Amino acid sequence: MSSEFSLFEKTKKDILDTGKRHGLDLKKLEKFISPNRVVEVELPLGNKNKQIIKGVRVQHNNDRGPYKGGIRFHQNVSLDEVMALSLWMSIKTAIVDIPFGGAKGGVAVDPKLLSEHELEALSREYVRKLFEVIGPDKDIPAPDVNTNPKIIDWMADEYVKTGIKKNPSANINFLYASFTGKSPSKFGLEGRQEATGFGGSVVLDALLKKLGINPLTQTVAVQGFGNVGYYFSYFASKLGLKIVSVSDSKGAIIKKENGALSPLDIPLVMKCKKEKGVLAGCYCVGGVCDLSGGKLLSNEELLALPVDILVPAALEDAINEGNMKNIKAKIIVEMANGPVTPVAYDYLTKKGVTIIPDVLANAGGVSASYIEWKQNIEGKKNAKNETLEKLEKIMRKAFTNVYKTSQRLNVSLKEAAFVSALKKLTESA
Ligand code: NAD
Repeated sequence: MSSEFSLFEKTKKDILDTGKRHGLDLKKLEKFISPNRVVEVELPLGNKNKQIIKGVRVQHNNDRGPYKGGIRFHQNVSLDEVMALSLWMSIKTAIVDIPFGGAKGGVAVDPKLLSEHELEALSREYVRKLFEVIGPDKDIPAPDVNTNPKIIDWMADEYVKTGIKKNPSANINFLYASFTGKSPSKFGLEGRQEATGFGGSVVLDALLKKLGINPLTQTVAVQGFGNVGYYFSYFASKLGLKIVSVSDSKGAIIKKENGALSPLDIPLVMKCKKEKGVLAGCYCVGGVCDLSGGKLLSNEELLALPVDILVPAALEDAINEGNMKNIKAKIIVEMANGPVTPVAYDYLTKKGVTIIPDVLANAGGVSASYIEWKQNIEGKKNAKNETLEKLEKIMRKAFTNVYKTSQRLNVSLKEAAFVSALKKLTESA
């Protein structure tokens, strides 16, 4: 697990530079940046070759509460990357002000090459090896790249079984709080699926209110129509925003009426995508099928559409030096992780574009994790509407704090989010 380019060193430099610009205590900041603990494990794969898979859990900081962060399964997982992502989690939990710290886990394996039986055995072994350092009041893992509720259910089950073996009178609900992102039928959270997209629509609504903009007047293009892009589009259209274009990896769709971009019916577009497998052709649903108005565009054309709001919800670096000059939107909501490169960020911010940064825009996922953990600890169960109500409160409060800081310091929302989180973290150290 090694890499030549150090993502951790780059993240460290960015944080120290932010600290210098805002007069933060650099000694405390240096201390905060180093992870508290790195636990490396060896996981024998139950195949004939007796292959050993490397796993790691980086527990970055727990000054504000138990460590929290996902586990990724990927052949390129490196210690450097997991360390950087764990640091990122400490900052993200502070931005949304939930009582967690930061952590991240990784297993260096391509899960697509494993049988289901091997994948389950590997997931359970990872938990057995880490049992003593994780748990509801120590470190609470969640899904990340290539891990899903099914894998998390195996892991939570292994944690509960081991916990009961060690202490037969242990509280089962409490033990299930060891992992978040479980299936709703297995102590998971109703509304988790919707959480990230919903959270993004809440912070966008809050920004529009601050700017005095009526959502009904706003057109929106969304790149990526997966879990995040779909639910963002669904909840934003419920607020009255006009989602005029959405895309998947094969391209984008628009619908025009009388020459003007017209709103897509989001649930119908999803129904169509599910039936066809791709979005192409789905502009015909949700009204009169206007073949001369409906059109398939490329993803680059979507980014350049004359819309008010652009929502990259697919890949990192989608908006970059090569296409930043084509952007016409005045607001960008970073629903994907890192969809606007640093150069494009500077260019667009200077041009007056307001960007809601990923650390805030997509923090609905980790905030829902907090709701799931709490319901397990308290032995309760939230209905979907209760989850969304709680989530809305967390996201609005986080937005207000970041917005006020950006006004006070006269900096971008991104810089404000980092400064306020780093202040909290160095003050609690
Ligand atoms: P997903 O796999 O469900 O959806 C991804 C979508 O992007 C798909 O519609 C896919 O077709 C589309 N896509 C892929 N390549 C594309 C391209 N070149 N151009 C346009 N579209 C393309 O993934 P997701 O869970 O919706 O995650 C999307 C982003 O949000 C990722 O950056 C992820 O890290 C981030 N994120 C997700 C969550 C979450 O809770 N799911 C939380 C925080 C951040």
